[in-house]
Amino acid sequence: MTVAKGREFLSIPGPTNVPDEVLAAMHRPAVDIYSGELIGITDRCLADLRTIFRTEGRTYIYAANGHGAWEAALTNVLSRGDRVLVLESGRFATGWGEMASMLGVEVETLNGNWRRAVDPAAVEERLKRDRSHTIKAILVVQIDTASGVVNDIPAVRKAIDNAGHPALLLVDCVASLGCMPFEMDAWGVDVAMSGSQKGLMTPPGLAFVAANDKARTAHKGAGLRTLYWDWTFREGEIHYQKYCGTPPEHLLFGLRKAIDMLLAEGLDNAIRRHTLLAEATRAAVARWAEGQVLTFNIINPAERANSITNILMDGRDPAPLLDYCRDKCAVVLGIGLGDLSGKAFRIAHMGYVNAPMLLGTLGAVEMGLKALGIPHGSGGVQAAVEHLAGEVRA
Ligand SMILES: *Cc1c(COP(=O)(O)O)cnc(C)c1O
Repeated sequence: MTVAKGREFLSIPGPTNVPDEVLAAMHRPAVDIYSGELIGITDRCLADLRTIFRTEGRTYIYAANGHGAWEAALTNVLSRGDRVLVLESGRFATGWGEMASMLGVEVETLNGNWRRAVDPAAVEERLKRDRSHTIKAILVVQIDTASGVVNDIPAVRKAIDNAGHPALLLVDCVASLGCMPFEMDAWGVDVAMSGSQKGLMTPPGLAFVAANDKARTAHKGAGLRTLYWDWTFREGEIHYQKYCGTPPEHLLFGLRKAIDMLLAEGLDNAIRRHTLLAEATRAAVARWAEGQVLTFNIINPAERANSITNILMDGRDPAPLLDYCRDKCAVVLGIGLGDLSGKAFRIAHMGYVNAPMLLGTLGAVEMGLKALGIPHGSGGVQAAVEHLAGEVRA
């Protein structure tokens, strides 16, 4: 017996739910790429991305996924043989570093811990020792979806400044843009990158990069530039140049609609919504944890992300629970990645998600815990409801 018929709840950390309005905006014929409305759509998307990244710098849109945005960021500011410092806090900054390594960049990793955020004091200490300033860039992730951690980007900036180090600060905001505050200019971030399919509610396939003046100055001497990723080429006046070829039209129609929806809600309100849903999730997990099997992967509550919650299962394989939720309830949860593979599962509360969607997901998890006889404290969903009822007033 299953109770799975009905809408599937995709609760993985990307791709996330695409609003019906966004899907509908994409359902139309292709249009001319040299004239007409597409030109304005590009201009407005580039401008609104500056609003979303909170920067006066330049923005670029690529037909690519997040990995493409990583490559765009690296190739535009670095040269072969340059050294970068990767701040480990899960899977993603390390993955970005592996990409840099294949490009011929020397990669040094400041080892971290999958259960903790990056330690700004360790960053400062390492940079102070780099007296001859061989480190050209620092790579860090704001929210690491593999560990569920949120890194304190302003604190990382402060560490760099305290060390008096000139390295560029490159930040991955794939799992945080539109979900939590990100202040590119106020925080002194030189290059920020993201993708379409997480907080920005658009199908996968678009990559976004923002660069400030310092990054664009470094760009002039960057030896890794290639035509496809090149900022200078994309800054050309001809519309075709802005995508280095045919624009990904339908994704742009979708993105335009998604940005309209995000700005209509208000960026601050969207961030507040993510905060509340994350708190509700954590309230539920805290109850379940009383059974001594489930625990938060991220030890320090202040370091838990607002778009993703990673839950360790002490010595048990999470697969039966995930299978139950998917097959019996049509709720798709995230598997553990990397070091957490076979040890943890993830509940995403990222992008186009509201209270009933989250409560439905939490309800299915609690149902699975019960049906499978996995020890857990009861009342997780109740705790989530109570939290939301207390915060969302009549
Ligand atoms: C999803 C994700 C990426 C990779 O994005 P892709 O579109 O899968 O290439 C990079 N960084 C973080 C933090 C992510 O969550």
